[in-house]
Amino acid sequence: MMAMLSLTLAFYLQSGPTLDALNEFARKRDVKSLATFSIGDGSEFRVLRGGAYDVGRFGWKVLALEPAFTKRKFVVFTTPLTSQDTGELLFERVGGKLKFVSELDLEPIRLGRHKLSMKFSTAEKSVSIVDDVAATVQEQIKGDVTSFRFSPCYKVSAISDGRSPVPFTQVGGVVMVPRPATNLTYSISYKGTVNLPLYAGAISPNNVTLTNDYWYPLVNRWPTTYDLTVEHPAEWEVIAQGNKIESKLSKGGVETTYKMDLPAVYWSFTVGKMRHIETDLDGLRHHMWSTNLTEDKMRYQPRFNAHILNFYSRSFGAYPFKQWGSLDSPTYGGGALEAYSFATYGEGWLPDADPHEPAHTWFGGILPNTYLRSFWNEGFAVWSEGFYERECALGSTEDRRAAFIKDCRASEDYNAAPLLASGVSIGGPASSLGYGKSGDVLAMLEQLIGTSNLLDAIKEWVRVHPKGTPAEWEEFEAIVLRRNQSLALKDFFDDWFCRPGFASVSVTGLSYTPGRLSGRLKWNGAKYRMPLELWMENGSGARQSVMLDTKECAPDGSFTIGVLGFTPKKIYFDPHHRALRDGASPRFDSFGDATRGMKVYRDPATASYVKCYEGNLKELADLDKVLIVGHPDTTPKMKELCVKAGFSVKGQNLTFRGTTIDLTKAGAVALVDLGEGKRCGIALGKCDLSPKLGKAYVGLCDDIGRMLRGSTRFPLNASALPL
Ligand SMILES: [Zn+2]
Repeated sequence: MMAMLSLTLAFYLQSGPTLDALNEFARKRDVKSLATFSIGDGSEFRVLRGGAYDVGRFGWKVLALEPAFTKRKFVVFTTPLTSQDTGELLFERVGGKLKFVSELDLEPIRLGRHKLSMKFSTAEKSVSIVDDVAATVQEQIKGDVTSFRFSPCYKVSAISDGRSPVPFTQVGGVVMVPRPATNLTYSISYKGTVNLPLYAGAISPNNVTLTNDYWYPLVNRWPTTYDLTVEHPAEWEVIAQGNKIESKLSKGGVETTYKMDLPAVYWSFTVGKMRHIETDLDGLRHHMWSTNLTEDKMRYQPRFNAHILNFYSRSFGAYPFKQWGSLDSPTYGGGALEAYSFATYGEGWLPDADPHEPAHTWFGGILPNTYLRSFWNEGFAVWSEGFYERECALGSTEDRRAAFIKDCRASEDYNAAPLLASGVSIGGPASSLGYGKSGDVLAMLEQLIGTSNLLDAIKEWVRVHPKGTPAEWEEFEAIVLRRNQSLALKDFFDDWFCRPGFASVSVTGLSYTPGRLSGRLKWNGAKYRMPLELWMENGSGARQSVMLDTKECAPDGSFTIGVLGFTPKKIYFDPHHRALRDGASPRFDSFGDATRGMKVYRDPATASYVKCYEGNLKELADLDKVLIVGHPDTTPKMKELCVKAGFSVKGQNLTFRGTTIDLTKAGAVALVDLGEGKRCGIALGKCDLSPKLGKAYVGLCDDIGRMLRGSTRFPLNASALPL
């Protein structure tokens, strides 16, 4: 068998692999055998094992692409696509080998503004589009052909240059045309059968969702602007990117036009019969669309969104549209997808405060990302979530900083590639590196340079980035380095972006002499430039933290930190795990974690209290693992529990740590220790949605669950080091 296989491979190496052979290897996801045909190192096949967002789950097929207008021969590895993941793999046959044509290899044309007009048939589950798109010839790029990329469910029927037809060959979603002689406007007619609910686009009798798919031609995933006109039934809602220009009556119902002036790589679009509310808040028009949520539920969402967008506008730069919207979609699936002027969510999530998708307006929108080189913008969106929760100026910022402190988590996936080379082609680890490591590295950078310096760098990046070009880590790095020269951060970027992995570090030999804390870092593996937090505890149990920048350590790892006005007796090494290193995550025993799954007792006398907790426990006997919704006046057991929680309740006024709330307008929750390992939860006041207290175990929240005050414990599993 072995000899036969080698003979077969040797044969292919001379004449080039047959389609049958390629299909067999692709079906088996035999990356190793396929790599032997590659002119490069074969790493382009790695993604066949699974894309970052599961592209490839329907299997791969290999088809020949041999247009009549060129002598060159190509093959396409095709599979149904979902956006922000790998595209189809295009190869040119060169000798007996395959030369990968990456979406990163610049094509001889670049697309400009698109003008699309769209019609659909729900009965056929189809959409028909004519796109007039400007193309500029890139003189410096050689080649007699160029390609547009669609999702393979879209089939092009005609392309013209305005005067005559343009020859083309489509295989999968790759549409090849001859290199044009001059700049031109292509008119591309195409039609798609759209039927991949919970993965990409989907059309049902009352809803057309093209989101999460390539329903428009892309070249090099270059960001572009567009105008879109769609014909639809009069009572349907159009949810499109950018600003709405007009809706007017047409033969088939209504024709609505949107103008998207922010160049974007990833386009979202839904039209359908659904509930819609809109309201003006803080100078923006806020929308919410849903098929299945009640209008009462939908009304909460604009309040969350307005506060988040307002905060980001102040922090990163002005929001570029006149409106924002949240779409609660029955076909999107799990999670959500940003569209820069709105976001699409799978059902069961909203209403909720989501600081992630709106952050993409800046990180992915104003600063576009192709996802081909890294998921850098996911790191910024994840970092923004924590940044919003900590600094959003709702209630006590000090309490928020403690409750929403970010812990870093190492993952074996971080060894797969350096951040600078962690795009879609590496498959699954691209997500871990984007959402996980990138966000953690930004949080460490924030510790090193301070929040305001990080924000200044972001603002500059947003301001100076050339509009309509993809943004990358290197551009951000250059800005941070230039703005923070005294910190000499080059080694930070080299350590965290240019090589894979994470830190493994501990501290030994701690000693304290008046005014000086000394010790030595022990690296298990590579050294990193990073912030490391040391928490000192004095004789009376008070704690204070100091940050060690590892750049300050001697070559043998030893360090000395000046300590004034505090006499430590014990030291905790990075107890909140704010450094990206191995080791256990901190445990906090938060109200949210501890009350999940508790039985709920609701006092009928306070039926309007904390509505998000539904329960039918009839009486209060054993309080262990019970969440009680009530008021001390009508639920006598609440008296003692409120005292234990630190709540002083008089009528509808509740005071906690000096802050008084009106229980008809805000809520209070706490995890109460009952002794002998037993505990219960208490909840009172007006809070219609789940209280979001982060790591806090007790606190106050507003009527939609946003934290106003909260107390957070020191990590329960932090272990003290002797001095
Ligand atoms: Zn995201």
